[in-house]
Amino acid sequence: MASSSATPPSTSSSEAASPSVVATPDGSSGAILRSRPKQLVNDPARTGFDPETKWWMNYFKILSNQMTPEGRFHYREWRYKVHEERDCKRCEEHKDWLFTYSPVVRFLSEKIHDLDGKLDRSNVHCRRCPSILEEDGTVNRQAGGFDPNHGILICANEMRDRKHMEDTVAHEMVHAWDHLRWKMDWVGDKDLKHAACTEVSLRSLL
Ligand SMILES: [Zn+2]
Repeated sequence: MASSSATPPSTSSSEAASPSVVATPDGSSGAILRSRPKQLVNDPARTGFDPETKWWMNYFKILSNQMTPEGRFHYREWRYKVHEERDCKRCEEHKDWLFTYSPVVRFLSEKIHDLDGKLDRSNVHCRRCPSILEEDGTVNRQAGGFDPNHGILICANEMRDRKHMEDTVAHEMVHAWDHLRWKMDWVGDKDLKHAACTEVSLRSLL
C-alpha cells in the first residue's frame, strides 16, 4: 500500500540504525512501483450506497439486493472508518497478549533478537488500511506489511480475531527475520525471489 491519509507510519526516520532495504506491503507487492491503477469513486446513483443516509438504510439495501458489489465495497470501507478506533484498540490488546503469551510470536521475537534485530510491541503498529477498488473491479486488500525501517504494520480493520492476528504478525516477523538473515532486496521484479526465499526460510526456521 503506497499512500493514503490514514494509515502509514511516518516515513521520516533515519536509516542509520538498521540496514536499509525497501520493502513492499503484503498484498500489493510491486504495485507501488507501477503507475497506480485508476480507482472507482462511489456514485450513489450507480452503486446504491449513499454515505449521506443512515447506516441501516444502506444495510437494508444490501440485504434486499439493491446495492451493487461496488456499493458494498464502499459501504465496507465506510464502516471501517466509523470503527477505526475500536478496531485499533482491539488490535493493541491482541498485540499485548501475543507478545506475552503466543509461543510463535515470542519465538520469532527471540530469533530476530539473536540477529541483532528488534521486533516487539513498540514497532508493531495497528492501523486502519483502506482497500483499493480498481476500475476493472479488482479489490486490493492487505492484512499487514513489514518495513525494515518502521517495523510491522497490522491492518486492524482486517483482523478477524486474535488467531488471525497471530498468523499475520508471525508471517510479517518471518519477513523481518528473512530481511536480517539474507538482507534481501525486495524491490520490484525481485519479488519472486522474496517469495521463494521466504518459503525456504520458513522451513529452515521451524
Ligand atoms: Zn508476506
